[in-house]
Amino acid sequence: MEIIKRLIRTIPDFPRPGIQFRDVTTLLSDGEGFRHAIEVIASRHPTGSIDKIAGIEARGFVFGAAAAHRLGVGFIPVRKQGKLPFAAIGRDYELEYGTDRIEIHADAVVPGERVLLIDDLIATGGTAEAAAMLLCDAGAHLVECCFVVELPALGGRRRLVDRGHAVFSVCEFEGH
Ligand code: AMP
Repeated sequence: MEIIKRLIRTIPDFPRPGIQFRDVTTLLSDGEGFRHAIEVIASRHPTGSIDKIAGIEARGFVFGAAAAHRLGVGFIPVRKQGKLPFAAIGRDYELEYGTDRIEIHADAVVPGERVLLIDDLIATGGTAEAAAMLLCDAGAHLVECCFVVELPALGGRRRLVDRGHAVFSVCEFEGH
């Protein structure tokens, strides 16, 4: 999806040397581009085919909430540890240094609900894999894991596919 890819800015060496940060704020600030990205994601899922969208903090909230609004379904925030006010369930996942934890409210998913997972970007897939496992823990039927940007060199798609999940990305960037 070349039109959308062109709207994503690359910041070299952020937040660390060697990382090419794919900055989606330039896509978000372009009304037509933002709407197009949401349309590409949402139009894959006919009305009535999903029950909820889960978005990963923080940029996954922006794309996920917009897609949920477009499809007329509920939104589930997948949050970093300790942010949710009600009883929560969580999953730990590995970072390059140490571990992190994501959480959802214990009642966010009604078992059997068809859920679409959205984040801005998949790199190693660790974050999305933890979110996918968490949603499945809660009884969700995970319809698809959807990303605006995929970095194929980092192999994230494989981790999700190996767990039996469908993966879709709007555009891809080479390298890290
Ligand atoms: P991962 O768990 O390795 O797939 O990392 C995915 C998460 O880290 C996403 O929430 C992204 O927003 C963020 N992220 C990782 N690498 C990049 C990158 N090169 N540019 C922008 N965001 C990134």
